[in-house]
Amino acid sequence: MTSLASLKQVKDGGISLIYPRTAALIDAEKKKREKYNEKFPFVPALEYCHNLPESTKEEKKIKEDVMSCHPNCCFNHRVGMPTITYEDIEKQIQWESEPIEFSAYEEEMVNEYESTHFFAENKCRGAGASERITVRHMAYKYFVENRTQERKCLICGSISITISKNFTHRIKLILDKVPFLYKKGMEPNSDFPRELHAAQGGQIIAIPAEEDAFRSYDKVGDVILEEVSSWDKEDDEPVLKAAEPHVFKSNARIGNLTTPKGKQGYYWNKIFTDDPDVKTKYKNTIQTGDVS
Ligand SMILES: [Zn+2]
Repeated sequence: MTSLASLKQVKDGGISLIYPRTAALIDAEKKKREKYNEKFPFVPALEYCHNLPESTKEEKKIKEDVMSCHPNCCFNHRVGMPTITYEDIEKQIQWESEPIEFSAYEEEMVNEYESTHFFAENKCRGAGASERITVRHMAYKYFVENRTQERKCLICGSISITISKNFTHRIKLILDKVPFLYKKGMEPNSDFPRELHAAQGGQIIAIPAEEDAFRSYDKVGDVILEEVSSWDKEDDEPVLKAAEPHVFKSNARIGNLTTPKGKQGYYWNKIFTDDPDVKTKYKNTIQTGDVS
């Protein structure tokens, strides 16, 4: 249970709290959302309204007009911005922070990801890379934007598919708020689904860190490799070698989102390296030399 003492600590930590969420309140919110979805069964084809340009008077006016349509201003406000929650020992949410807007750094990260086919992000920097790219950007890209039909996004978080499914679980929590975006008859039947099917044809798929898993898919649009340094695989390079051909076969983007952990594995040898003779093709914002 969250005690008053720990609540005070949270307040002292500078996070504003809104309310204790009871089961009745959560149920009421769900009903309200269902009604809203019935009335507005669509999602704006804009990922995040705060990103709209505002350098001219006209741009400023457009941005204001779009933002005034909240929560139908953009995808992220439509599904709700992330919050920080506090759970008791029974995993019941006791407190929830106000919704948190994305930082300029997180938005720059998305732009960088989309500007290259080989991207790497050092998660040590504390930015919400997984939430912004793996969960939210991929949900938008495959379920709203759907640039190329029938494309697949492969998400790999570990040699264990159970861990990879944590990401499809997080994406599902967002998409459940706009369930009309799921392909009819293919809605997820588990809270930790292996595959998520978009109404317009795309798929987001959780896979384990095995070469064959990467090779068994075609028409791949994105490969997200999460926490590579923690895979604990004797040799993880063959996995990267199995993932990279998707760049040439179907113009895929590869994203490495990892907290570095020692000087080992392909993340150190091919991406994070401080060896001036090794030229990495991965565009990243990493500062070399601070691996512990
Ligand atoms: Zn918005």
